Amino acid sequence: MQTFKFNRKIAVYAAMAMMVMCTGIVFGFALWQSADVAEYAEYLPHTEYAGYTEEAPSGPEKYVLKVEDEIVGALHSREEIYDVLVTILEEYSTETTEYIWFVPDISVVRQVVDEDIVKDTEALLEILAPSNEESGLAVESVETEVVEKEEIPYETEYVEDDTLTEGETMLISEGQSGLLQLTETVVRLNGVEQSRDISRFAQPPVAERIAIGTMPRGRQYIWPADGPITSGFGPRVIAVGSRNHRGLDIGGRLGDPIFAADYGEVIFSGWNGGFGNAITIRHDNGDETLYAHLNEIFVSVGDWVYQGQIIGAMGTTGTSTGVHLHFEIIIDGVQVDPILYLP
Ligand SMILES: [Zn+2]
Repeated sequence: MQTFKFNRKIAVYAAMAMMVMCTGIVFGFALWQSADVAEYAEYLPHTEYAGYTEEAPSGPEKYVLKVEDEIVGALHSREEIYDVLVTILEEYSTETTEYIWFVPDISVVRQVVDEDIVKDTEALLEILAPSNEESGLAVESVETEVVEKEEIPYETEYVEDDTLTEGETMLISEGQSGLLQLTETVVRLNGVEQSRDISRFAQPPVAERIAIGTMPRGRQYIWPADGPITSGFGPRVIAVGSRNHRGLDIGGRLGDPIFAADYGEVIFSGWNGGFGNAITIRHDNGDETLYAHLNEIFVSVGDWVYQGQIIGAMGTTGTSTGVHLHFEIIIDGVQVDPILYLP
């Protein structure tokens, strides 16, 4: 049977690991305190941890800058190294810079190094500067700029739909403008142009789709009053009233019921000049029916009435020569002969 023994070696490793993690957190915060460095944060290398080896000299750790795995210098903090790198990068950076980094690649390693390797920031800057021919280091930057941007308008497609009534439309899908964009990319090495390309991005427009109703409008009116037609639709010669008769006159007795010719909403109710007491109803299909010369009105504007509902009483108010109902059917704002639409 095995028992767990306190292992001194594991405890030491664990403590070391904790310290590494804490250091990382502290420096992670420190990085964001420098505005300039933060701007280049996405390019700056993460610090690798070289670890302890038998051969490594003893002493405090340093932050070592390597170019292609060759030690170039070391500083006491990662921030100092970042400052050096960013100072160089800023020199070759413009407003349109999309990418910028060193060639060959640079890395930062935390390890113990001999004291004579450690340099101050000024000295390291001098060694690395691309203007120093011996540095062997260059800054590659890529600049991109949109040089042309054109919106391509979308078209509209109409689709017939027999579940919608004539004149009705419905949006099926929204249109989307297309885009034509030319982007210029310039690659520079230490600020000197190496190549220049223009790339073309095209996104075709998406057509707007609209359904158009083809189902004939339903018109199933009933007679608005029981009685003989005393005057038909169209031109006529009379002593009083319109020369061109825009409705149908139905005779009857004073107080005879007036029926709504179809279901709809009352949009006018009251005195209407020559029509006297009148009612106008708007129906689902957009048509309107008008009832004039009424003796009494039983509905108000905003009322919804059903087909056959008694909405008033026959009379001879307004410009009228005797008791009758003047009845109009109005389609798209134009009076039509009601006889064509009555059963
Ligand atoms: Zn009339």
